[in-house]
Amino acid sequence: MELLDRFRAAIRIKTAWPSGGPGGVSTPRGDAQAEAPLNRFQDFLEEAYPRFHRAAERFRISPYSLVYRWPGSTPAGGSDGGKTGAPVLILAHYDVVPVEEDQWTLSPFDAEIRDGYVYGRGTIDMKSILIAIMEGAETLCGQGFTPREDVWFAFGGDEERTGLWGARETCQWFVRRGLRFAWTLDEGSYVCENFMPGIAEPLALLGIEEKGYLSLELSVRQRPGHASRPPKVQAAAVLARALLRIARRPFPFVLTPAVESFFSGLAEKAPKHLAPFMRHARLLRPLFFRIAASTAELVPLIRPTVAMTQLEGSAADNVLPSVVRAVINLRLLPPWTVEGALNFIKKAVGDERVEIGVYGEGNNPVPASAAQSRRAGPGWAELEQAIGAAYPGVPVLPFIMTAATDSRHYRDLAGSIFRFSPLRLPPSEIALMHGHDERISIENLHRVVQFYTSLLSSL
Ligand SMILES: [Zn+2]
Repeated sequence: MELLDRFRAAIRIKTAWPSGGPGGVSTPRGDAQAEAPLNRFQDFLEEAYPRFHRAAERFRISPYSLVYRWPGSTPAGGSDGGKTGAPVLILAHYDVVPVEEDQWTLSPFDAEIRDGYVYGRGTIDMKSILIAIMEGAETLCGQGFTPREDVWFAFGGDEERTGLWGARETCQWFVRRGLRFAWTLDEGSYVCENFMPGIAEPLALLGIEEKGYLSLELSVRQRPGHASRPPKVQAAAVLARALLRIARRPFPFVLTPAVESFFSGLAEKAPKHLAPFMRHARLLRPLFFRIAASTAELVPLIRPTVAMTQLEGSAADNVLPSVVRAVINLRLLPPWTVEGALNFIKKAVGDERVEIGVYGEGNNPVPASAAQSRRAGPGWAELEQAIGAAYPGVPVLPFIMTAATDSRHYRDLAGSIFRFSPLRLPPSEIALMHGHDERISIENLHRVVQFYTSLLSSL
């Protein structure tokens, strides 16, 4: 079997979840039908990568968690008593988001090839990466390679549904074993083209910081009744006023050290009139914020965002609702916390008739370490080298992830967290990720394999 066959076999295992509920949780744990494909995927890896499975220790923790230890040649704790030596952790997930099958040009689980692309759910997010990790390890094992330090892989089966059964339990498992990691790599930002107007050339965006995720529910109650006798003050009007107040009072601008470092790197590539503001963003803050905020792509990097996502009244046109509700989805920048953001919104609304509470599970942002913001510290050199091998000449910039990844569960276990998906994607293909006709070019697939082979060979 070749790389392409193994990759297509991985896509054909339907590890998609049924949809619904906050964070997408709808199926109970232990549901045999939902868990069978997750177990099958774990079996598949063993069949497809025999050399690696002979070299590594495997821990099948649950259908949602598969862990490997690839033993290093250095004795545990490092050759200098643990001063520099520490294991590295590579993360990935094998579940995928649901599909609307009738919307696809080619079937989402057949892994058909057309015009140099493999079509299928998970081709980008993120079976291509998981397979590339295995391909790299298998090749290196075949060459008799042994890493210097232990390399751990942790693969999750419920990342697309919050990672509570996968990543969170895997973390606890690592904690019980007393393990800590020098650094960890998870999926993340891409090698991106046309990042913003005026910057067309590709940039490798290496995520060192992650925004927090928080949904808030706003509700207003009233006595239900017939629509022919509406009350003087209606719940929907109170809710509408609350939403308007939120829209009129955006979160203040924030410049985190990670984002500052990103802009100073971007300055070299930026149009002349923007470059000085990017290079000296902190010094020229008020002006910098004003200029950056006029470019839509940059706004999520410099302030917490608020998206108004759900709105609900009564079920019929002639029935007064007993409660009207709205859900807003926030993405927080450090130093904002779930609690601080909730208070900020409550204050913006300033109306006790509106109940405001956390909807589902929120999580705080994960700031970059000080070393990461300086583009230094454990992991930087190895990642820069591997990016250079797969994408020669493409500049590497520190970046902030605006979406949540499994790696947030590992914040207390790793000195530095990196989030990077080594795929070169034009904006049109990024949009395919959770959408219809998700596909990866075969060229991209080879580059991902090259990245991981190079990265693992440097560990
Ligand atoms: Zn993903």
